[in-house]
Amino acid sequence: MTTNNDRPRTSSAEVYILLHGYAKDGETLEVSRVASTVAYVREGDVRVIIDPGMVPNPGAMLEPLAALGVSPESITDVIFSHHHPDHTLNAALFPHARFHDNWAIYQGDSWENRAAEGYEISPSIRLIETPGHTAQDITTLVGTPDGVFAFTHLWWSVDGPADDPLATDNDALHRNRERVLQVATRIVPGHGAPFTPNDATPH
Ligand SMILES: [Zn+2]
Ligand SMILES: [Zn+2]
Repeated sequence: MTTNNDRPRTSSAEVYILLHGYAKDGETLEVSRVASTVAYVREGDVRVIIDPGMVPNPGAMLEPLAALGVSPESITDVIFSHHHPDHTLNAALFPHARFHDNWAIYQGDSWENRAAEGYEISPSIRLIETPGHTAQDITTLVGTPDGVFAFTHLWWSVDGPADDPLATDNDALHRNRERVLQVATRIVPGHGAPFTPNDATPH
């Protein structure tokens, strides 16, 4: 678990945030308003969407993508940080993609078991297993000319919560935050804008 082991082999990916996620109170106690942070990552011919989950409407992720000149049909890979609906609900918008989670790669009717730990989508894009929020959480580490980005639900947003109130394993959560902070220069959290970790970042 050293920095060298986790760092992507190359640093040639491009990162675009399509939507800054959020989680807030709704109209009644039973209703929350929640959207996942949705990202687009490109390295050469590999075009990746991370967490196409709950958003106000599909255009909220597809319009920023179109502004980059990218069609949903051209997306090659989709990554789920974990299985909750707020991070997976709109996966079918990308009909030709391979889908990645911590267990397997899914495409059409093909379910290919593989471990996510260390799996490379491309030389600059790799998955590591980071349970805590759920037992099935993964983090996507992306090497770019501007440093290593970590797309992860280990943090909800730069503003916290410091302890994940929904975590299934708090010890693992804190351990995996440490691991990610060893390698990442930029954090893209599950429900907020990207941030640069500093001394105030909860470990
Ligand atoms: Zn979740
Ligand atoms: Zn979430």
